[in-house]
Amino acid sequence: MMQVLPLQSGATTEECPPHGRLILLTGPSGVGKGTLMRSLLQRHPELYYSVSVTTRSPRSGEINGKNYYFISRDKFEELVSQGEFLEWAEFAGNYYGTPREAVLNHIRCGKLVMLEIELEGARQIRASFPSALSIFILPPSFPELEKRIRGRGQDPEDAIARRLRRAQEEIKAADEFDIQIVNDDFETALNDIEAALFG
Ligand code: ADP
Ligand code: 5GP
Repeated sequence: MMQVLPLQSGATTEECPPHGRLILLTGPSGVGKGTLMRSLLQRHPELYYSVSVTTRSPRSGEINGKNYYFISRDKFEELVSQGEFLEWAEFAGNYYGTPREAVLNHIRCGKLVMLEIELEGARQIRASFPSALSIFILPPSFPELEKRIRGRGQDPEDAIARRLRRAQEEIKAADEFDIQIVNDDFETALNDIEAALFG
């Protein structure tokens, strides 16, 4: 069955206040980006979270349209060729991308638009949106990062190995981003993100 993505959001440019902004959360897999993002969205429902598109299989409990739009590689490549992504990248054997229209419409509508993406995509966004606020989340240590990826208990061993190899490279890039936050104590990290967003 053909999958139809709601890449076009309901937001329109009419009657929208200006001054939306793109907020970029990046950092290695397992550092806690998703968990921080969920808590942030609970505290601030006015934020718009951009649901990404991926070719990865859903983890248990993940819901299509909420966590990701899960699609085939063929469909993803078709969307790439149609220019439907603001950025996209291959990560640990799967494609991930940010739907263009929904994000642009919400920025036009004055929203703080939250992206939670890996390094390559984050670099693409920084290049095309210099005014985006970019936040790099660091682990307190590499062994702790490995513990978190394993503790999540959701990835097969080969995927864990790929993610850990990639994490070493990603962490080296932390200084490219506007703000670096160490996710050691969760509440402290969450408060630091809030301070970066709302001052
Ligand atoms: P990411 O989205 O960056 O891949 P997740 O949000 O899935 O990472 O977090 C990976 C694991 O680490 C989860 O099991 C999560 O509960 C745990 N975690 C997140 N933040 C912390 C923290 N500050 N201390 C300990 N464990 C954490
Ligand atoms: P996971 O498979 O653990 O959900 O995500 C793997 C990595 O892909 C994470 O670092 C996550 O932030 C990143 N990611 C999620 N969505 C996107 C996206 O739309 N674009 C890019 N470039 N990376 C994404």
